[in-house]
Amino acid sequence: MNKAVLEFSSRTENVAFARVAVAAFVSQLDFTLSDIEEIKVAVSEAVSNAIIHGYGNNPDHTVRLELRVAEEYMEIEVIDQGKGIKDISQALEPAYSTDPERMGLGFAFMQSFMEKFSVQSTPGKGTRIKMSR
Ligand code: ATP
Ligand code: MG
Repeated sequence: MNKAVLEFSSRTENVAFARVAVAAFVSQLDFTLSDIEEIKVAVSEAVSNAIIHGYGNNPDHTVRLELRVAEEYMEIEVIDQGKGIKDISQALEPAYSTDPERMGLGFAFMQSFMEKFSVQSTPGKGTRIKMSR
């Protein structure tokens, strides 16, 4: 088991940082380039959600990534201490968004690109997305 933890400001420019950092960390495994592209999309969506929805685009908060890899396996948790999700099953519905300007597809990408996916969230406390493949 190899582990890494990253914490960064809740700024949209850090979505790109998170993608590249995760890709670099999982590149020690035997993933194909297309596997890594999919993992990057899932990570981008989860980190974007933490920044946009969790923290309401306020850059003064912290997003935490916890990464674990072993053999052919990677696991990531994306954690915010933001506003949380009231109704998780509704939030997971494809095309559901609380923002009329958005597509509501982030969770659908995470679920289709990762093998295991779970959401823990408490309104007022924050959200933890756990994904692996
Ligand atoms: P898109 O990802 O297509 O830009 P979206 O972000 O609204 O649109 P999803 O990523 O599927 O769509 O998220 C669905 C809804 O779940 C969001 O609209 C938001 O209300 C809620 N949500 C998701 N992640 C978080 C989070 N970290 N904190 C609070 N609410 C969240
Ligand atoms: Mg989203």
